[in-house]
Amino acid sequence: MSVTTLEEKQYLLRFKCDKKSHLTILNHDVCATQCPDKLCTLFCPGEVYKWEGNRMQVGYEGCHECGSCRIGCPTENIKWEYPKGGHGIIFRLA
Ligand code: SF4
Ligand code: SF4
Repeated sequence: MSVTTLEEKQYLLRFKCDKKSHLTILNHDVCATQCPDKLCTLFCPGEVYKWEGNRMQVGYEGCHECGSCRIGCPTENIKWEYPKGGHGIIFRLA
């Protein structure tokens, strides 16, 4: 018998992650040399982008699919696709 916890019943969002990222940094050198403020680390509400060492790490699993990185990256250096069907964030609207 499966047991549903109170937290599971009350969830507002969940993530069903794909194995492959739907977000791609097109050119890591551009991040390193042309974007001193690393703006994606500021505008992304899911805190998906983390500057570590000299490279942008992309934790696509936490993407809220808001689409901000499609317009927010000043060099258009992020390729954003919808997660494959059945994957990504799941909102409960009740
Ligand atoms: S905003 Fe764009 S160019 Fe700047 S660090 Fe993020 S992905 Fe790289
Ligand atoms: S779509 Fe929104 S939440 Fe997802 S990575 Fe881009 S800015 Fe972050």
